[in-house]
Amino acid sequence: MKNISLLGATGSIGQQTADVVRAHPEQFKIVALSAGKNIDLVRAYIVEFEPKLVSVQTEEDYHILKNEFSSRKDMEFMYGDDGLTAVAVYDEATILVNAVIGSVGLHPTLQAIRAKKDIAIANKETLVTAGHLVMSEAKKSGVRLLPVDSEHSAIFQALQGENDKNIERLVITASGGSFRDRTREELKGVTVEEALSHPNWSMGAKITIDSASMMNKGLEVIEAHWLFDLPYDKIDVLLHKESIIHSMVEFHDSSVIAQLGSPDMRVPIQYALTYPDRMPLTGRKRLNLAEAGKLHFNDMDFTRYPCLQFAYNAGKMGGTMTTVLNAANEAAVAAFLSGKISFLEIETLIEKALNRHSVIALPDLETISEVDMMTRKYIESIVKDR
Ligand code: NDP
Ligand code: MG
Repeated sequence: MKNISLLGATGSIGQQTADVVRAHPEQFKIVALSAGKNIDLVRAYIVEFEPKLVSVQTEEDYHILKNEFSSRKDMEFMYGDDGLTAVAVYDEATILVNAVIGSVGLHPTLQAIRAKKDIAIANKETLVTAGHLVMSEAKKSGVRLLPVDSEHSAIFQALQGENDKNIERLVITASGGSFRDRTREELKGVTVEEALSHPNWSMGAKITIDSASMMNKGLEVIEAHWLFDLPYDKIDVLLHKESIIHSMVEFHDSSVIAQLGSPDMRVPIQYALTYPDRMPLTGRKRLNLAEAGKLHFNDMDFTRYPCLQFAYNAGKMGGTMTTVLNAANEAAVAAFLSGKISFLEIETLIEKALNRHSVIALPDLETISEVDMMTRKYIESIVKDR
């Protein structure tokens, strides 16, 4: 039995993790979970999974749940940052699934590493904002970071039994997101609703917008840099609209190993939980290549998708530049989702934030938190009166 603590249990990845647990109740148990504001789903989880620790975002919701479940003497409730960290380091858990969104996942991740928990990591923003801290702490503590992001899971699977020194390059595939068939001119005036309809994947709102702007791929390039310890000139992006090849590794001898499958996040979530083993995943659509017929590939167009270029540039500069990239993106996407700015302004705001920042090399945690906060404030000051 593997005991799981789950950050972001009510989100898209969190709910699919719950599905994987449901499919294998003899293998997995959720012992601690955190959520944001969706307390209806938390109520259902409490009844279904009987976790021993539950954390929510606000003090108000904490009081509501604590009163409602006051008869459960064996169940502890918490809230806010302390609650997130308590779930992340929960004593009885052997693995943490970090499926919270945004750099709010950084502190709990570092604490979980120090508590020697292996981490199935979906929360890419944590690696983007402070990859050097996360990776060096993981190395020091001897814990494993198991990728959940489908591209990184694909690369991780392709590298099994291989020697990392033989890698020529990684090829990360990109579906192109909701607006892949539009020109830049046609992006003017697009609505939030249009941006939220992804052609291949059903995901949380923020990552769906990131996919449309191609920032998601930029964050993934930086995530791959840290997870696989490779320089940026060995990480390429390829447009592949079917999302069937989840990513590939090319080796020095010119062999390419790819991982394929129907788009379903439960597969990489489960692989991270069962690694190095595999388990059946019933009721899922299996890949039928004859049915797929053709797979399409195109070179990435950096003029069409400037956010990807920002990410490569920030990644190569390193230090606090990726912290700014991530925080500016989080704040700009939130402003777009709340109707304050247009879709194209997301990239303008990110570019502004990057251009005004003087990079600090090898920042410590305090510096990262400070830069993250200042960047959000800067974006918010621009959009506040909209
Ligand atoms: P969602 O927005 O669907 O879910 C985010 C989760 O985090 C929810 O449980 C939400 O709670 C919780 N949350 C948000 N803010 C806070 C906060 N301040 N404090 C505590 N909890 C909070 O996101 P996704 O599941 O789509 O994505 C999660 C992560 O996984 C992201 O880093 C994303 O990039 C990555 N990822 C996602 C994929 C996908 O298919 N969705 C694919 C690959 C990677 P609540 O809803 O209760 O408010
Ligand atoms: Mg991905």
